Amino acid sequence: MQMKPCAEFKSISLVIPVYNEEAVLQRLFGRLDRLMDQIEGPVEVLMVDDGSRDSSAAMICAKAATDARYRYIGLSRNFGHQSAITAGMELAGGSAVIVMDADLQDPPELVHDLIDQWQQGFDIVHARRRSRQGETRFKRLSANLFYRLLNRLSDIDIPVDVGDFRLIDRRAIETFRAMPEQDRYVRGMFGWMGYRQTIVEFMRDERAAGKTKYSLFKMLRLALDGIIGFSDAPLRWALWAGAGVSLAAILYGTYVLTIALLGVRLVSGWASLAVLTSLLSGLNLLMIGTVGLYVGRIHRETKGRPLYIVARDTGRPFASTRADDPVSVADASPHARLWP
Ligand code: UDP
Ligand code: MG
Repeated sequence: MQMKPCAEFKSISLVIPVYNEEAVLQRLFGRLDRLMDQIEGPVEVLMVDDGSRDSSAAMICAKAATDARYRYIGLSRNFGHQSAITAGMELAGGSAVIVMDADLQDPPELVHDLIDQWQQGFDIVHARRRSRQGETRFKRLSANLFYRLLNRLSDIDIPVDVGDFRLIDRRAIETFRAMPEQDRYVRGMFGWMGYRQTIVEFMRDERAAGKTKYSLFKMLRLALDGIIGFSDAPLRWALWAGAGVSLAAILYGTYVLTIALLGVRLVSGWASLAVLTSLLSGLNLLMIGTVGLYVGRIHRETKGRPLYIVARDTGRPFASTRADDPVSVADASPHARLWP
């Protein structure tokens, strides 16, 4: 397919979510500084502090004070990775935005390849992990299973093994800003969007330092958000399971009635009753729970709370490329409130 190259090279925003990453920050700054020297055109780095409790905030502010390309955005508490990157993407001013992790698992040097593809005319460039160094077998296996399951269940095409390391053109960022959902599965949202998308592969490195901030529980939650947010298959399963069990019950009922009518003396039948009742009530609870997952989402959506709260912001390194550039952060971002 023939693509029209970008008319000119424009500004780049790097968005980096940070949650208790004091152990890697110095190394990250070093790699970013080197990277930015190699990129032509203006670059800004938005460090989104997702309520860190260690010295991350102080380290980033110190860096921002000496290097105008860095911007510190402190959220008022821990809102979670997906909300943190949402905040960064909404506040970024670049004509392309690149999201990457703070722990150097996403090698900053890949940014060159992402920008190359962007200049070829792609709007969204995903970085796909070809290998996952230093991650447990369990994490690799569960991630693998999950991506495949999600793709089977949902109607949209979400690239397998793609995390949140990607480049997004301003057009797609504006589309993203217009998507209000509370439970965000960001990679799915970009998959859904369309536009011209492509994939660049990379080797996922080991975490440079520190521990993973994704506990098993957070991982399960993210997986659930992905499935519930992009598929209504679980609701259909509830229907089919209900139908299957009802059919079995009818058959069994017919059988019982028949032998009763034939005059077979029935023993008290306690065992079958007990099994049936517990099986059915278990299924009932499961179905209600499934429906509840969707109702819970509706509940959260109707409250319409802001997705994140910016408590502190050192301001934008370079002016937004948009002409109607709003002055205050609260106006700049459709989903944030600036706390007093
Ligand atoms: N992170 C965040 N908020 C959280 C958890 C994680 O901003 O509640 C950040 C974290 O600092 C890192 C990125 O999200 O930059 C990815 O987290 P992590 O490396 O722990 O996840 P993993 O690579 O193990 O999946
Ligand atoms: Mg990591």
